[in-house]
Amino acid sequence: MAQQRRMGGQPMFIMSEDSQRTQGRDAQSSNIMAGKAVAEAVRTTLGPRGMDKMLVDSGGEVVITNDGATILNEMDIEHPAAQMIVEVADSQEEEVGDGTTTAAVVAGNLLGEAEDLIEQDVHATTIVEGYHEASEIALEAIAEQVNEDGVDDDVLKQVAESSMTGKGTGGLTAASLAETVVEAIRHVETDAAVARDNVAVHTQVGASSNATELVPGIVFDEEPAHDGMPAEVEDASIAVLDVELGVRTGEIDAEYAIDSIDQLNTAIGAEESEVRGYAETVAESGADVVITTDDVDDRVSSFLASEGILLFENIGSSDAKDVVSATGATRVGALDDLEESDFGEADRVRSANYGDDDLAFIEGGAAAETVTVFVRGGTEHVVDELERAIGDALDVVATALDSGEVVPGAGATEIAIADKIRQEAAGIEGRKQLAVTAFADALDIVPRTLAANTGQDPIDALVDLRSAHESEGRAGLITDGEDVTIDDPLEYGVVDPADVKREAVESATEAATMIVRIDDVIAAE
Ligand code: ADP
Ligand code: MG
Repeated sequence: MAQQRRMGGQPMFIMSEDSQRTQGRDAQSSNIMAGKAVAEAVRTTLGPRGMDKMLVDSGGEVVITNDGATILNEMDIEHPAAQMIVEVADSQEEEVGDGTTTAAVVAGNLLGEAEDLIEQDVHATTIVEGYHEASEIALEAIAEQVNEDGVDDDVLKQVAESSMTGKGTGGLTAASLAETVVEAIRHVETDAAVARDNVAVHTQVGASSNATELVPGIVFDEEPAHDGMPAEVEDASIAVLDVELGVRTGEIDAEYAIDSIDQLNTAIGAEESEVRGYAETVAESGADVVITTDDVDDRVSSFLASEGILLFENIGSSDAKDVVSATGATRVGALDDLEESDFGEADRVRSANYGDDDLAFIEGGAAAETVTVFVRGGTEHVVDELERAIGDALDVVATALDSGEVVPGAGATEIAIADKIRQEAAGIEGRKQLAVTAFADALDIVPRTLAANTGQDPIDALVDLRSAHESEGRAGLITDGEDVTIDDPLEYGVVDPADVKREAVESATEAATMIVRIDDVIAAE
C-alpha cells in the first residue's frame, strides 16, 4: 500500500509501494497476541516440576531443554512483537543469568491484562503509566522481601540448588552440583567483585559416569603434538605463540626452481636447517610448555619431545586467550621476539585422556584465579542441559554474592509484590488504578503456574497462598520431593537472588509497555 501526501499539488510517496501497514486496534491486538503466544510457549517449563521442551531445527538438530532463553532462541520467532519477548529473556539471561521463563511469562501476562484494559477503553498511555507506577511499587516490595540474614555459603548453595531444580542434571544431584558451583564462585571472589568470567565450564561427553569436578585452572581439547612429549609438567614456563613452526607450504617452490637432484637436495637441506632453527630457538628459549595457534612441523615436535618440552599446536584463539589470562603469558607473533619475560607460569600443565578425547589442563596459573567446572556426562543432550543448568547456577550465585541479597522463591515474592501493589492501588486516582491493579494480577501468573505445573489447582493455590501470606508474612508453594506445601520458602532453602526478581519486573514491564504503545506497524516487504 502506498502512502500519499499532496504537497503543492504534487503527489508525494513516503512509503514504498510494497510495504505493509497495520494500524490502530488491529496493530495492537496482533502484537499483543503474538507476545502472549510466545510467553505461553515457555509457561509449562517454569519451576521445579517444569517440563522440558524438545526443539528440532530444520537440519534435524535436537535440543532438549527447560531453559526459557534457550527455548525462545531456538524457536526461530519472526513476529517483531514476539521477538521483543525473546529479547526480555535474552536481557534477563545477560544481566542476571536466570529467571528467563519468569520474565517472559510475566511479560506475556502483562500483555494479556493490557488487552482486557484496552477492551474496557483504557487508553494505552494510561496502561503504560499504570504499569510503570506498579513496577516501582514492585521494586519496593522486593526490597522489603530481602532476607535480612544476608548470604553465607549455605544460602549460596540454596540459591544454586533452587536455580537447578527441575533441570535435567543427569544422574547428578542438585546438591552436589551446588557445592561445586559455590566453591567455584568463592574461588574467583575478590574484595571488589565476583569475577564470574573467571569461571569456565568445560563439558566432556562419553565418560562412563556422570561427574563434575572443579579444576583449579583451565581445560581445553587438545593433545600433545608428539607422543614422546611429557604428559605432565610441574612449575611450567609457558610460551604462547601465534607462529607456524615449520616451512610454509609453497615456500620451497617459490624460492627454488628445481630441475636437478642437486638442487632438490639443496632445497631439502635448506628446509631441514630452517626447521631445525625453529626447534632450537624454541628449545633454547627456556620454555617447558609451548602453545601455538598455528601448525607445527612434525620434525619440530619430535625434536621438542626429545628435549622434554610439551607442545600443543593449532590451539583455538579463544583457548589461547584463556591461557594468557590464566598464566600471564604474552602472546608472541614472531619467534625472534620470544623472550623469557613473555612466558606465563602455572603450577602444572598436564594432558589426560577421556575416552576418545585428549584434554589439556593448565592448573594454578600465576595470573588469575581461573577455575573450570569440568562436567562429564553420558550423552550430548545430558551434558548440554547440565552445562546450561550449571551456567545459570554460577550466574545466580555470583549475582547473590555480589549484592548479598536474596528473596524467598516458590512464588512468595510475587505474592508479596502483588499484595503491596493492590494495597497501594487504592490510593491511585482514575483509570490508572485499573492498570496498576492489572499489573498485580499479571504477577499472579508465577504462583499460578508453579501450582499448575505441580498438578495443583491454580485458583485454590493462589487463595491459600494469599491467606498464608496474610497471616504468616512469607508464603510460597514449595515442592519438596513428592510433596507440595505452602510454607515459608526460606525455611526450605528455596531462595532466588533479589536482582533476578528486579530484572524480571523491569524487563517484563519494559517489553509489555513498548508493545502496548505501538499502534502502527509498517513493514517493508
Ligand atoms: P526461570 O527461567 O524463571 O528461572 P525456572 O524453571 O528456573 O524458571 O523456575 C524458577 C522458579 O522456580 C522460581 O520462582 C523459584 O523460586 C522456583 N523454585 C525453585 N525451586 C523451587 C522449589 N523447590 N519449590 C517451589 N518453587 C521453586
Ligand atoms: Mg531458573
